[in-house]
Amino acid sequence: MSSMRTLTVLGATGSIGTSTLDLVRRNPEGWRVVALTAHSSAIELARLAREFGAEIAVVADEACLPALRDALAGSGIEAAGGPAALVEAAARGAQVTVAAIVGCAGLAPTMAAIEQGGVIALANKEALVSAGDVMMAAVERHGATLLPVDSEHNAIFQCLCGNDPEHVRWITLTASGGPFRDWSWERLVAATPAEAVRHPNWDMGAKISVDSATMFNKGLELIEAYHLFPVGLDHLRIIVHPQSVVHSMVEYRDGSTLAQLGPSDMRVPIASALAWPGRMDTPCAPLDLAAIGELTFRSPDEVRFPATRLAREAAQSGGAVPAVLNAANEIAVAAFLGGQIGFTRIAAQVEDVLSSYAPPPPDCLSDVLEVDGEARARARLLVTST
Ligand code: NDP
Repeated sequence: MSSMRTLTVLGATGSIGTSTLDLVRRNPEGWRVVALTAHSSAIELARLAREFGAEIAVVADEACLPALRDALAGSGIEAAGGPAALVEAAARGAQVTVAAIVGCAGLAPTMAAIEQGGVIALANKEALVSAGDVMMAAVERHGATLLPVDSEHNAIFQCLCGNDPEHVRWITLTASGGPFRDWSWERLVAATPAEAVRHPNWDMGAKISVDSATMFNKGLELIEAYHLFPVGLDHLRIIVHPQSVVHSMVEYRDGSTLAQLGPSDMRVPIASALAWPGRMDTPCAPLDLAAIGELTFRSPDEVRFPATRLAREAAQSGGAVPAVLNAANEIAVAAFLGGQIGFTRIAAQVEDVLSSYAPPPPDCLSDVLEVDGEARARARLLVTST
């Protein structure tokens, strides 16, 4: 990368945020940091803001603003707090915004970044799942460039490069199957949060780790792929690939299948998005296929893991249904992590909320947020009545 570009990282203190900043740290002349944000990790955020010379640091939780201000005292870096400040920071119009907040909480700031028409490197899949049509219309309207960071979607993006989507027969999303892929139903019923966040291949935030264990991660990714790649739901499928080496594949009408392979390190897809349409170095160990030895594949089991079925049905219904699915899942995952419900109750609760709430399709961001709020309220009631 020859010229300096401006960068905002939404969710800078998280797993994707810190991996992004690790790449920036290795290429400091390539970037000028505009905004870094967090939810409540004020001290860590201030440390990063000082290290990268950010213009502004924002905590979404306003109660953490005094701690952020103290930690930034004398640095000349602006400090702000609350959801509106998050949106304002995202709207400063960095050339590249890495959207790495977890959950639908990232939707409004991501939309604000899209409205500035820059490059959005999207990790925050829940935002696209909840607001699919609204977000894609905004990308089109504002001339923004949406680059997928999720490893599967980044792989597909690379495999589609230079090809007409008309010629695609299948897009196949690979899934590790998570830590419980071989567990019986009886074991799943008793699975603990500590077991669920111990992913065999990837080091990720708690929420996506649980999503990986339930397979909701793959369900959300199916909906994400549906919006990102215009091939139609009938041409999207999922295959379990425990080694997480093949990150996804595209099969064309002539029988050619293109796949992207790489180490299980999110710095690879993040680097692909940051350097696009070029390439940049990463510190990741090269793929050693001889050491890996075997790549295996199998069909997903939608009886033990109903999440992918629920997500496919939600995508088929369209409109507000994916937003309901996402919100119900976020609440159920938080309740599971908090010890309030068992592991297998997560999908059961999502299905219950989906069957009790069918709002009309959202037309704009505030419609999506309203659906999200109501679905959360219904999901919370289920948690307390369990
Ligand atoms: P983490 O939990 O590690 O980090 C989340 C980040 O978002 C933190 O900076 C956190 O701040 C901030 N945040 C949390 N809640 C809020 C909120 N309500 N408002 C504003 N900011 C908030 O998550 P990950 O990095 O694992 O995941 C981020 C996104 O990327 C998710 O959508 C996930 O699905 C996606 N993704 C992640 C991958 C991974 O390998 N981790 C792979 C592919 C996609 P604080 O530190 O203060 O809590």
